[in-house]
Amino acid sequence: MPRIFLNPIMKPKYLIVAFLFCALVAKSQSHKTENVILVTLDGMRWQEVFGGAEKRLITKKFVGDSVQTLAKFWKESATDRRQTLMPFFWNTIQKQGQLYGNRDLGNKVNVSNNQWFSYPGYNEILTGSADNERINTNDPMDNPNKNVLEFINQKKGFEGKVAAFTSWETFPWIINTKRNGILVNAGWMPATNPNANEKLLNELSTQLPNFTGGTRLDALTFHYGFEYLKKNKPRVLYFSFDETDHFAHEGEYDRYLASANYIDGFMNTLWTWLQSDEQYKGKTTLIITADHGRGNKNISDWRHHGQKMAECDQIWFAILGPDTPALGEVKTESQLYQNQIAKTLAAFLGFDYTHERKPGDVISGSIK
Ligand SMILES: [Zn+2]
Repeated sequence: MPRIFLNPIMKPKYLIVAFLFCALVAKSQSHKTENVILVTLDGMRWQEVFGGAEKRLITKKFVGDSVQTLAKFWKESATDRRQTLMPFFWNTIQKQGQLYGNRDLGNKVNVSNNQWFSYPGYNEILTGSADNERINTNDPMDNPNKNVLEFINQKKGFEGKVAAFTSWETFPWIINTKRNGILVNAGWMPATNPNANEKLLNELSTQLPNFTGGTRLDALTFHYGFEYLKKNKPRVLYFSFDETDHFAHEGEYDRYLASANYIDGFMNTLWTWLQSDEQYKGKTTLIITADHGRGNKNISDWRHHGQKMAECDQIWFAILGPDTPALGEVKTESQLYQNQIAKTLAAFLGFDYTHERKPGDVISGSIK
C-alpha cells in the first residue's frame, strides 16, 4: 500500500480525500474469491495433461480396442490431442486461468515428499508440508498434521462450510475428521437426509459393479459432491477422484484416458453451474492437481509409481478464478512444489496459513 502522510493539522476535506484514497486502494487490493473448490485426480500424469494420449501406449497390451481408442483420443499434434482429452482444461482454463507443469517447456511442479504415492501426496497438498517420517503408508491412520481445510473451517463465516467428497475411502483419516469434525463423504458412503437425486445416487451405489473395493466410482463421488454444493453452499469444497490411478495400475490405458476425459467434463459441469449461481459467480476459485506422478521410462512404467521409480514426483497444477491472471499454459522456466497448494488456497480467501511445519509459499503469480 502506498504511504500516505497525514499531517496532524491537515484540513478536514484533505483528510476525507486521503481516507477515500485509502479505501479505494484497499478495495483494489482485496480478492474477489469468497469460495474455493479443490480437485485432485489421483496419479494423473503431466504427460497426458500437456500432451494428450500417448500413441506408444495405445497398444493391444494396454487397451481393449486400439482402433476405437485412436479414433477417440489420437490427433497428430499435441495441442489437438490434449484439447481432445481434456477440453475444459484446454479451452476454459487455458483461456482464463493458469496451467503449470509442462516440463517440456521447463515449467516444473514436483512433490517435495520422498514417498511418491497417495497418502503422503494428499498430506502434502492439504497440510502444506511433507512428513516423510510419519506419513509413509497408505493405511488408514489418523493424520497427526493439521490441514488447511480445518484451518479455514475455524475462521469466522467458514464454520461448517468446508466439506470433502472423495472416492478413496481413506480420506476421513487423512483429513482427520475425528479431530476436526469436517464432513468427509468417502468411499461408498451414502448421502444422509437425501434429496431425490441423492436417493438415486444411494440406490446406484448399491447396484453398480464394485470392482474397486472400498473406493467409489468417480461419477458417484462427483454427483454426491455436486448435490451437496447446490444444497449446502459450502465455501470450501474438496473433490478427490481416484479412477485415473486405479485404471493405470490395472494397465488399462483406454479407461485411464476415458476417466481423465469425463473428470474434465465434471469440471466443466461444475464451473458452468458455479457461474450461474449468485454465491459463486465471479467469486470462486478452482484449484486442480494430483497427488503424485507415474513412471515414464519403460513401456509399462506409466502403470506404476513410488519412490523406487524415477519421475513419479512430477505433477502439475491448474488454477482458474477471478483473482488469477489469465496466463494460460505457463511457459516460463520455474520450479513449484505440491506443498504450495495449502497456503495458496488459504491466500485466495485472504488468510495467511501457517503452522510449525512451515507450509510452502503461495504460488507466485497465481493471485493478482
Ligand atoms: Zn496408486
